[in-house]
Amino acid sequence: MPLNKNKVLVVGMDGLRFDRLVALAPPVLSSLMATGAYGTSRLPYGEAAVPGAAPRTESPGEVVPKAPEPPAAGRVIRSRTDSGPGWSSIATGAWPDKHGVVDNSFTSPQFTKFPDFLSRAKNARPDLVTAAFLSWAALGEHNAFGPAIDHRMVLDGYALTWTAADRQIADAAERHLAETGPDLAFVYLGDTDEVAHALGPHCPEYAAALHAQDAYLGRLLDAVRGRPGESWTVLVTTDHGHVDEGGHGGTSAEERTVFVIANRLGADLGGRPLAEPRLVDVGPTALALLGVPLDPAWELDGTPLFNSW
Ligand SMILES: [Zn+2]
Repeated sequence: MPLNKNKVLVVGMDGLRFDRLVALAPPVLSSLMATGAYGTSRLPYGEAAVPGAAPRTESPGEVVPKAPEPPAAGRVIRSRTDSGPGWSSIATGAWPDKHGVVDNSFTSPQFTKFPDFLSRAKNARPDLVTAAFLSWAALGEHNAFGPAIDHRMVLDGYALTWTAADRQIADAAERHLAETGPDLAFVYLGDTDEVAHALGPHCPEYAAALHAQDAYLGRLLDAVRGRPGESWTVLVTTDHGHVDEGGHGGTSAEERTVFVIANRLGADLGGRPLAEPRLVDVGPTALALLGVPLDPAWELDGTPLFNSW
């Protein structure tokens, strides 16, 4: 019997605090954790706190003079714990001092030198089919997820409302996954972040946003589970956390803690720990699962969390 073809779905949920995820226990994510592998790490950057400053916002902000815990001696990453740096790190497998996105202004991105992992996969293996579905328009407009991706859908959550944009993204991604079965797909959902900015991550509205995204995730999983001859790995991650009052950019544990959940659909790994999974490891993990070798010349910071299951 021929081996099933490995395929990878990466789902990003913006501003999803891992402790809130555990406490709220949405059914689909909880099931992925229970039968998969997961862990947390802290972003190696953040804007230094300013006493008495206004609450954190999603504004471009300032470039910080010093990161709290440089990942390596002599390397200081100056960046806010914002969405632009987080998703660009997930996309490229490199930290902000390399890909150049240090806040949400995308002033000088280096996506030609550090393209997203879907574009890397396509470039290395033109036979692979890639797809990205984004409800935050900036990720498409600035090419954090670039034009080499075979099928790219970009909506503007600010214009449509995030609930509507996420719903349309989930609908389209579900249909595309079911009908086309791309080898590598990325789906971005943003309402959790929007709600946390407005109300903080401890309110019923945040729980509702998380449960809505969890239900979308469940539909995406059902779409790929039904496809014969394919073995799907799902990776779920976020770009940053939030302070209790809502907002991010700074250096607190609540803002810097991120997570990766990995699950091979149909297998039961029993919820084993992933040791300190970093955002930059997501892309290399996806590439390794697809059999795309990582070239040292790419100067990635991430490494595969595992090469196979
Ligand atoms: Zn964000």
